[in-house]
Amino acid sequence: MMMSSVEFFRNLPPKQCTKCGNTLDEMHESYIQKCDECEQESRVANL
Ligand SMILES: [Zn+2]
Repeated sequence: MMMSSVEFFRNLPPKQCTKCGNTLDEMHESYIQKCDECEQESRVANL
């Protein structure tokens, strides 16, 4: 049985922050691997 693409994406696991494990909902920004908090933290660390 064929799955529609909507079904397919619904079955994908939610994206999670690679650092703290928070669920991310920025589906349109697929390159983001961290939540806002950790993203800001890493930016400050890189200064
Ligand atoms: Zn995080």
